[in-house]
Amino acid sequence: MAFAILFDSTRCIGCRQCESACARRWNLPYDDTIASEEKLSAHKLTAVQTRGDRFARRMCMHCQKPGCASACPVGALQKTADGPVVYDAARCIGCRYCMIACPFQVPAYEWNSRLPRLRKCDQCADRQAAGKPTACSEACPVGATVSGTREAMIAEARKRLETNPGDYYPGIYGIDQVGGTSVLYLSAVPFDQLGLPAAIGHDPLPDLTWRALSLVPGIASTGSVLLGGVWWITHRRGEVARAEKKERGS
Ligand code: SF4
Ligand code: SF4
Ligand code: SF4
Repeated sequence: MAFAILFDSTRCIGCRQCESACARRWNLPYDDTIASEEKLSAHKLTAVQTRGDRFARRMCMHCQKPGCASACPVGALQKTADGPVVYDAARCIGCRYCMIACPFQVPAYEWNSRLPRLRKCDQCADRQAAGKPTACSEACPVGATVSGTREAMIAEARKRLETNPGDYYPGIYGIDQVGGTSVLYLSAVPFDQLGLPAAIGHDPLPDLTWRALSLVPGIASTGSVLLGGVWWITHRRGEVARAEKKERGS
């Protein structure tokens, strides 16, 4: 029984109670300055983003077939049977291949720590195992963020779409993007207007990560799909390097 989160942008009022609840759960600082930072970071594992007159949430998508876990050479990131993609700092060697492999640019790194870890949402795996909703969904006052089994969240999303079709852009983001995710989105506008990658495809990205590629004999002579994967990884490596530079302020 896999768990999932449903985020319905049409209901979100931008109150940021989800951010605050997440920070409390992780014992992370949270104040007005941090609230105004509308991006994921090592101290902000979910972020509410203003998109015109709407709001979107960012957090780990808990991909069904996560690129981060596939790229990690030591198994520090694992997809659990219940849905969450969890991180084991004791295994992590800090190579940050996961940051390159993630199509949603989620994992953040503790640059200013002596013992840096990767930081990302774990979908409140401990709470879910205890039969509780995620801290962010429990805190949401308007049902914009809800959690439960993936089947139940898909059913809830379909019900909302059918009940008020005029309120929604047709479709549920995450049903099959990159092979399906455990965070699902509803929106009034096309999903790219919420900042979600639109042209991301439906194939799981692990097939395109360096580890998968390195296992393929004669990779240099393989076809355009794999070469496309190489281009994507190279492109992401550049993006991560630029983000690292910006975060370090250099
Ligand atoms: S969104 Fe990124 S970090 Fe989260 S499971 Fe998918 S690949 Fe991994
Ligand atoms: S599921 Fe848990 S860890 Fe993830 S954003 Fe919500 S409160 Fe934070
Ligand atoms: S708590 Fe709910 S309504 Fe408030 S910002 Fe988060 S998702 Fe939106």
